[in-house]
Amino acid sequence: MTNLIPADDAFAASLELPPAAFPALTASYLEEPRGRYASGGGLLVAPSSTTEVAQIMAAAHAGRVAVVPYSGGTGLVGGQIAQDLPRPVILSLHRMNKIRAVHADENVLVAEAGVILADVQSAAEGVNRLFPLSLASEGSARIGGVLSTNAGGVNVLRYGNARDLCLGVEAVMPNGEVMNTLTRLRKNNTGYDMRHLLIGAEGSLGIITAAALRLSPRPASTGVALFAVESPRAALELLSLAGDIAGGTVSAFELMHRQGLDFLRETMPETRQPWPTPPDWTVLVDLGGPADFDPEVTLMNLFEAGSERGLVDDGLIAQSTREADEFWAIRETIPEANRRIGSVSSHDISVPLSSIPDFITQGTQAIAALGPFRVNCFGHVGDGNLHFNVFPDAGKSRADYEDARKTIKRTVHDLTHSFGGSVSAEHGIGRLKVDDLERYSDPTKLATMRAIKDALDPHGICNPGAVLRRAPSN
Ligand SMILES: Cc1cc2nc3c(=O)[nH]c(=O)nc-3n(C[C@H](O)[C@H](O)[C@H](O)COP(=O)(O)OP(=O)(O)OC[C@H]3O[C@@H](n4cnc5c(N)ncnc54)[C@H](O)[C@@H]3O)c2cc1C
Repeated sequence: MTNLIPADDAFAASLELPPAAFPALTASYLEEPRGRYASGGGLLVAPSSTTEVAQIMAAAHAGRVAVVPYSGGTGLVGGQIAQDLPRPVILSLHRMNKIRAVHADENVLVAEAGVILADVQSAAEGVNRLFPLSLASEGSARIGGVLSTNAGGVNVLRYGNARDLCLGVEAVMPNGEVMNTLTRLRKNNTGYDMRHLLIGAEGSLGIITAAALRLSPRPASTGVALFAVESPRAALELLSLAGDIAGGTVSAFELMHRQGLDFLRETMPETRQPWPTPPDWTVLVDLGGPADFDPEVTLMNLFEAGSERGLVDDGLIAQSTREADEFWAIRETIPEANRRIGSVSSHDISVPLSSIPDFITQGTQAIAALGPFRVNCFGHVGDGNLHFNVFPDAGKSRADYEDARKTIKRTVHDLTHSFGGSVSAEHGIGRLKVDDLERYSDPTKLATMRAIKDALDPHGICNPGAVLRRAPSN
C-alpha cells in the first residue's frame, strides 16, 4: 500500500475551487455523537457539484491524499471521523443539497447526497408520497451517509432499509471518474449492480453524490398503540398476531425494556411517561393503511386477541396525532437518554427472529455474570434487530469500567454469532467494528471485499481504516 501524504496548503490550492468550498473546520467535524472518536483535524472541503467532487478525488488519487467523506456526522461507528491519518481531506457533502427531480407518477425522487433525510421526507409529503426511511437522527443525517451506512430505522419491517429504497446512484470513484448509474428503473439486470457495492461501503469505495430514491403511497389513515407485554417471547407472538389481524399495514413494531423508560425518567423527567408504573416490556405498534382502513379498530382487535391469549397485559391506543407523536417520542428519545447515562458498551445486533427471546435471556445472564451492570435492550424487534446496550450500575460512570468494555463486547458479539446473527445490524462497521468484521466474517467474503477495495482504490485513499483495516505501508 502507498504511504499517504498530508493535504497541505499546496494541495488545497491545486484543487482550484472557490473560497466557499473551504468552510471553517468546526468541532462537529471532529467528534462523533457518542464521543468515542475524535479526529486530529484535516482539510475541510465542501464541493457544490459532482464535477467538484470529481476534481477533489482525482487530485487526492494523484497526490495520495486520504479522503474521509462526511454527510450529517451522525454515524455511530466512527466511519466519518479519522483519528490517525496524515491530514486527510474531510469531504463534506452539505453544499450538495438539491432535490434534482420528483417523479410522483413513478414514485421516485432524485436527491443529491447532502440533502437532509427529513427534507427528503418533506419533499415526498409535498407530492402526497412517503419516503419511509425514518431514524431518530433524520433531522441531521444526509442521504449520502444514510446510503453509505445502509441505514435501517423504524420502518424496515414494511418498507426495507436504505438499500431497498434506492434505485440508482451517481458516484465518484476513488480515481475521480464519475459513475452514472442514477437509473430510475425497477428492473435492470445489466451485469453487476454497482449501486449495491457503494451502498453500505461507508465511503471506502468512493463518494455517493446523488441517488434515485423509491417513494411509496402515503398511508391515509394511521394509528399507534403501546402494549405492555410480559416478555420478548410474548412480543414476538404479538407480532405474528399483528400480521394475521393487520396484514401489510404494520409499519413498525418496536420493543422497549423498562430500563429505557427508567433512563428517560432519570435524564429527561419532562418527557410524558405512558405508564404510571412501567411494565417490564413495552411494544410500540404503528399501522398505516388506505382511507377506508380503521387503525383504531384494528389496534383494539389486536389488543383483545393479544389479551385473550395472555400476551398483552395492558394497552394504550393513541387518540390523536399529538398522542401518537408522544408515543413515538418515547421510543425516539431513548437513544438520547442512553447517551446522557453513558453506556459502557453498545451493541447493534440482529439474530433470527425466533432466537430473540433466548438471545435476550442468555445475553442478560452473561452480562450479570460479569458484574452489576444495567442492560437497556430495545429496538426494531420486527426486523430481529436489537440495541443491547450495557450501562454502569447506578451511581457509577462509564469511566469506572474502561477495562471491562472489551470483555462485554466480546461476550455479546460471541453470543450473537453463536445464534447466526450479525454484530452490525444497521450502523455499519466504521472504525469501531473492524476487528469484529475480521473475527466473525466468512473468510472468503472478507478476501473478496479486500480484492474489491484494492482494485478500485489501489492507493487506499478512500476513508482509510474504515470497514477494512489499512494495509501496511510500503
Ligand atoms: C440519535 C441517533 C439515532 C440513530 N438511529 C439510527 C437508526 O434507527 N437506524 C440506523 O440505521 N442508524 C441510526 N443512527 C446512525 C446514523 O444516524 C445513521 O448511520 C445515518 O445513516 C448516518 O448518516 P450521516 O449523514 O450522519 O452520515 P455520516 O455520519 O456523515 O457518515 C456515515 C458514514 O458514511 C460515510 N459517508 C458519508 N457520506 C458519504 C457519501 N456521500 N459517500 C460515501 N460515503 C459517505 C462516512 O465516511 C461514514 O463512514 C442513529 C444515530 C443517532 C445519533
